[in-house]
Amino acid sequence: MPVDRVLLAQPRGYCAGVEMAIKALAWMVRVFEPPVYCYHEIVHNRLVVDRFRDLGVVFVDDVDEVPEGAPLMLSAHGSAPEIVATARSRNRFVVNAVCPLVTKVHHEAKVRAEKGFTVLYVGHAGHDEAVGTLAVAPESMQLVEHEEDLDDVLPEVQDPSKVALLAQTTLSMRDWEGIMDRTREQFPELWTATRNDLCFATTNRQAALTAIATRAEAVVVIGSANSSNTIALTKVARSAGCPLVLRVDGPEELFVDELDGARVVGVTAGASAPEDLVQAVIAKLDPAEGVEPVYVTDEDEYFPPPRELRELVPALDGLAALMVGGNPVAARRRGGPFSDDRGMDASLVLAELAR
Ligand code: SF4
Repeated sequence: MPVDRVLLAQPRGYCAGVEMAIKALAWMVRVFEPPVYCYHEIVHNRLVVDRFRDLGVVFVDDVDEVPEGAPLMLSAHGSAPEIVATARSRNRFVVNAVCPLVTKVHHEAKVRAEKGFTVLYVGHAGHDEAVGTLAVAPESMQLVEHEEDLDDVLPEVQDPSKVALLAQTTLSMRDWEGIMDRTREQFPELWTATRNDLCFATTNRQAALTAIATRAEAVVVIGSANSSNTIALTKVARSAGCPLVLRVDGPEELFVDELDGARVVGVTAGASAPEDLVQAVIAKLDPAEGVEPVYVTDEDEYFPPPRELRELVPALDGLAALMVGGNPVAARRRGGPFSDDRGMDASLVLAELAR
């Protein structure tokens, strides 16, 4: 049965952290001879990773696999402090593309641990972000994955006045709130970040999806199975009461028969899913009455390139000017195409590279 209408969540797809990381790796690919190495998937999206692989990027799960001297990027999810130190120790150009909002949680973990707190960290076991954050203060931190885990963890707390609750940035709000309420009930002096650690991109995408999930007969969430915020979106749609929720990597995984005759279909995308996949999914749904954007908020956050690349920027601008017969010294001073990538769209940057 044909789909009548698509309700399209806004915002959706790439967040500022993913934009920054993809553009940074794209720069590395442009500047260095292949192979460029990347510790862990740059972001958890199959298509993005495959596109970079096609461009000669080698993804590794162990920095020891990277040859001495080879350029290396550390992924947006953040890396354990000893991984960052090891990576930097071997005569390599290392770019740490960790999202600043993950760095903020690392900082909270370090400070609370130094102050003698028991730090409970709500996150997914084995997820790159959780592994990196737990490694910041392993003696003081404990993972809480599910609310039931509190039965074992809470009785172990030594000092009830020094308990902190941190979180993976991409959790579903519902998962966080359940654990936070129960922990605060037992420890009224519980320390948490002022709002919480869930990032703006996570909460905005969940709010936009909630707005469409209550109206749609089915929801399609675009994103990869290992993307935490994508899985959180599927949970949000289900808890908003949407009867059918499908997660797909892209249009090739969407079979319109699976929509069970739904006439109004919601569409959103996780924070690492490119917009071209969203448009391809909508084209496949081919809604007879078109697309209704459902807007919740504007997102104008921008994260500049990682520090290591910013230091290279004047040299790159000078080189770019030289290639077109310009004055490299003036370009270094004035700034060129590498100085301000705010207006560049990461999807387009990646597509351009692939040409
Ligand atoms: Fe950063 Fe949030 Fe995006 Fe993760 S989802 S990269 S924490 S902005």
